[in-house]
Amino acid sequence: MTSPDGSMVHGPKAMLAKLPSVDRLINLPASQALVTAHGAALVTEQARVLLAEVRQDLLNGSMPAITLDEAGLTQVLQARCMQRLAPRMQRVINLTGTVIHTNLGRAVLPQAAIDHITAMMAGPNNLEYDLASGSRGDRDSIVEGLLCEITGAEAATVVNNNAAAVLLTIAALAREREVVVSRGELVEIGGAFRMPDVMASAGARMVEVGTTNRTHLADYERAITPATAMLMKVHTSNYAVQGFTSAVSEAELAPLARAKGVLLATDLGSGSLVDMSKYGLPKEPTPQEMLAAGCDVVTFSGDKLLGGPQAGLIVGSKAAVTRIRKFPMKRALRLSKLPLAALEATLTLYLQPDRLTEQLPTLRWLTRSRETVAATAQTLLAPFQLALASRYTVQVVELSSQIGSGSLPLDRLPSAGLAIAPVLSGKRGLGTALETLSTALRELPVPIIGRVEDDRLLLDCRCLDDVAQVLDQLANLKAALA
Ligand SMILES: *Cc1c(COP(=O)(O)O)cnc(C)c1O
Repeated sequence: MTSPDGSMVHGPKAMLAKLPSVDRLINLPASQALVTAHGAALVTEQARVLLAEVRQDLLNGSMPAITLDEAGLTQVLQARCMQRLAPRMQRVINLTGTVIHTNLGRAVLPQAAIDHITAMMAGPNNLEYDLASGSRGDRDSIVEGLLCEITGAEAATVVNNNAAAVLLTIAALAREREVVVSRGELVEIGGAFRMPDVMASAGARMVEVGTTNRTHLADYERAITPATAMLMKVHTSNYAVQGFTSAVSEAELAPLARAKGVLLATDLGSGSLVDMSKYGLPKEPTPQEMLAAGCDVVTFSGDKLLGGPQAGLIVGSKAAVTRIRKFPMKRALRLSKLPLAALEATLTLYLQPDRLTEQLPTLRWLTRSRETVAATAQTLLAPFQLALASRYTVQVVELSSQIGSGSLPLDRLPSAGLAIAPVLSGKRGLGTALETLSTALRELPVPIIGRVEDDRLLLDCRCLDDVAQVLDQLANLKAALA
């Protein structure tokens, strides 16, 4: 159809003339419902942006991919408002097989911690207020007693994360002096946390001793000078030196440190507050063992094996912890009330050690038997087979889970899950088919994250508590793959 001036009636130019103004679009009943729900500012801004985009498309002579009548425009407007308000942080379902997954938020908080956060954040609290005396209090006192009781330390303080704990410890105790550390322990933790750089940032001079594979007590002894402030041990949490190796334990170093009048600190990284071997898991050194061995300071994370919020825990002698607490940098690294509430509730669970494997999600998942995990996988098998129909084969298989977060890097937990393989006549299209499936799983309302290994997509069921949450999404998965 052509108009008298020869332009297309339904072409971009004609559509341009018919486009409503921002005001008109906003005043449509469907838009007014959005205004009632979200306020005029958000809806007007989204309407303005939407119309500007449509106008630009039409001016460029192209038709936008949406229906340009009132119903079409208000529908897109609603979607845009929702999208604008949707949080970037989303819950996901961790079927990667890595229990403490750094990219997926590390430890999942126990319910007690979630409840305590909710109660404490909803109003004012006694964060730094001593209710007994009615005067100013110290936020550390909320968890110091618990930490001392659990680890046997004289004193304790907490900061933002373990990286901060290590930085602060070195800065407070060894600034402008020397710290002796083994070459076998100059670790890099993901995200540019490298021991030599941390030492430099803290203003300490690092003195390396020994070799990559072997360090002896005499190496430390020779390195101690009047400028030495501290001997430092670092738990090699994310790698293992194997073969012809030798390291000096904290228990061996403590007498030397004491005789020479220098401090001994150890960074445990994960550090577990209970002996993991009691649950049949690989042994990790505990802060209590390190203190008993004679360390002045022990640092570890709150959100690795401890199973709590992100935090850096520092336990040790009264003298050392007092210097750390009073060091000005502490103020910049202090723990906020939100993780502090979570940490208090998590540590309280350790006062009931018999119930830990029920109460701490991390420990519950780590201690789950292969049989239990396989039973969960079995309940998923038929529904997945049905949803993936003729395009993929699904099997229950034995798998190996990892603890994760740099803890016990070589140890594997016997696990189980689904192995999904594309139905193809050869290897052609294999990568694409696996990618299509993992993308579809990631794009579900509650994304499911698995791993691709040996030409299959693996869904390790170790950390899966809510089977229904997966089953309820299989219709979406089927639709996405159709
Ligand atoms: C994980 C780790 C850190 C860093 O701890 P964050 O809590 O992530 O800051 C430091 N040292 C070691 C040995 C670690 O394993």
